This record gives sequence, structure tokens and C-alpha cells, in this order.
Amino acid sequence: MVQTSPLDRQAILQRARGFCAPFRIGNGDGFRLDQVSPSDTLHLDRHDKKAAEAVLAEGVALLADLQDKLYASDRYALLLIFQAMDAAGKDGTIKHVMSGVNPQGCQVFAFKAPSAVDLDHDYLWRANQCLPERGRIGIFNRSYYEETLVVRVHPELLARQSLPPELVSDDLWTQRFRDIRHYESYLARNGVVVRKFFLHLSRDEQKRRFLKRLEDPGKNWKFSASDIKERAHWDSYMGAYEEMIRHTASEAAPWFVVPADNKWFTRLVVAAAIIDTLDQLNLQYPVVNDSAREALAAAHQQLLAE
Ligand code: ATP
Ligand code: MG
Repeated sequence: MVQTSPLDRQAILQRARGFCAPFRIGNGDGFRLDQVSPSDTLHLDRHDKKAAEAVLAEGVALLADLQDKLYASDRYALLLIFQAMDAAGKDGTIKHVMSGVNPQGCQVFAFKAPSAVDLDHDYLWRANQCLPERGRIGIFNRSYYEETLVVRVHPELLARQSLPPELVSDDLWTQRFRDIRHYESYLARNGVVVRKFFLHLSRDEQKRRFLKRLEDPGKNWKFSASDIKERAHWDSYMGAYEEMIRHTASEAAPWFVVPADNKWFTRLVVAAAIIDTLDQLNLQYPVVNDSAREALAAAHQQLLAE
């Protein structure tokens, strides 16, 4: 059972660490996807779902408070990257976990197939323009990682990129992984804290969710014929995800491989990882120095004298 009585801040932070640490990959050497079961819920079971929702609510409240400090201190930016197969729950997780934060401090970008203009540039170009400003949380719903996933599974997409032929070698994926690692170290050194989430869904659960979308008229709009087409490449995608995590997990920009067969658990782990990350930044409200305090006192007097 999870503890649901009101906890103090320290206890909430400690609990958050417990929920996210088992799924954090800071070094991808030898990583295998089967190390994480999509249906894992740690020590919680189905009957804990209601309690887990209460725990999430506490986490969301703390997250709002941490975001406020992130904004006020105006030093770091937080970039959260979400990758997953269709129906893994990216949209719902983003919606629930960020439900308490001030919309002014948060920007969400969904990356779809690149436009003609995008294709005329290097693949990081469009993502780079969407990076969060200092003090903000930026969310990438899909990202430049698609360049090592869908583009790898469908070689015809790579052909559309009009790369000089001599640059397209067998090493291309290894080179992309290396470039992405360097890009993320660069971001980290500029105060952009990067955290990456792979929502790890099982093939069976995806089938269940697709069937629901087809059978429930209220959910029909969520279904697209291309979802079934991509599902047919399941094993290639899993291979690409595994390689991606192996080569791009780093302490500066770790992956969280989050079990996604139970939405309530996915949300708990993602919220926990964000809380833990922000807590470790030791965020503080700016301190008002003596001269600023004098200016405040003068303004106070001036208003009273009106
Ligand atoms: P939802 O289905 O919940 O609306 P989604 O993220 O699946 O969300 P879609 O419009 O269905 O959105 O899919 C976006 C598509 O764009 C995905 O199939 C993805 O693989 C593709 N895509 C994203 N980035 C690239 C890229 N760099 N190159 C090629 N395809 C990409
Ligand atoms: Mg889709």
C-alpha cells in the first residue's frame, strides 16, 4: 500500500525518488529493453490505483511549487522529451503531470513528420528553435529522436533528406547517436536540463487500446490507419529504441524507461522524475539585496504619501 496521509515536503521528495530511481538509465552500456517490464508497478498493485492518484495529486502540487522557483530564479531551463509507440499515453501523461503548473512557464511542442522547409535543414534545426527559455519547462512530444527511430525503421524517409550520398554510410546511426550525445552535453552546459522518457508499452496492451479506440465511438478520433501500419514493424521499433537508449543515455541527459501498461503508474513515475530533477537543482527565489530593499521601502512610502 502507498502512504496517503499528508506528508511533508521531504517525505514527498523521498517517495518520488523511490518511484523514479528504478527506471533511470544514466549509462546505457549493455541496456536491454527486457530489463523493464511494461506492466511493472513496483510494490503497488491494481488496488492501489486510487491511492496512487492521491499520491500523484500531492506530486503535482509540489511540482507547481518547484516550477514557480524555476521561473523566479531564471537560471535553468528544463527540457522533457517523450518518446513512445502509439497509444502508450504520451498525451495523457503530459496533460496529467503538468496539470498544476503555470501555463506561462511551460511550452509543449509536438514533432510530426518534417515539412519541406525542415527537410532543407539539418535534423536538429527545428528542435533547436523550440528549446525552452531559461526559467521554463519545455516539453517535446516526440523529438529529434525520431531521426533514430521512424527514419531508421523506414529507410525511404532517410532518402527524402537529400543528404550528400558520401555522408550516408553504415555508420550513420552511430554518428547520429554521437551527435545527439554531444548536443545534449552542450545543452546541459548551457543550463538546459534534459530528461528523456520512453513510455514502454507492451504489444498486447497496444492492441487492447487500439481495439478500444475502434470500438468506442467517443475514442474513434484517436485512431489513425497509420497506427496499424507502424505496429507491423514492432520488433524493428523495439530494436531501434533499445539501441537509442544504449547510445544516448548519459548522466547529463538520462533516459527513464517507464512502464506504460498502467497509465496511473506511468504518470506517477514521470511526475516523480520531474520533481526529483527540479529538487536537485536547489532552486531558490532571488534574494532581495540591501539596495533593492531600500528601493522597495521608497516605493512603499511614495504610495502611502499619495
Ligand atoms: P497522436 O497519435 O497521439 O496524435 P503522435 O505523436 O502519434 O500523436 P501523429 O500525427 O500520429 O502524432 O504522428 C506523428 C508522426 O510523425 C509519427 O508517426 C512520427 O514517427 C512522425 N515523425 C516525427 N518526427 C519525424 C521525423 N523526424 N521524420 C519522420 N517522421 C517523423
Ligand atoms: Mg499517432
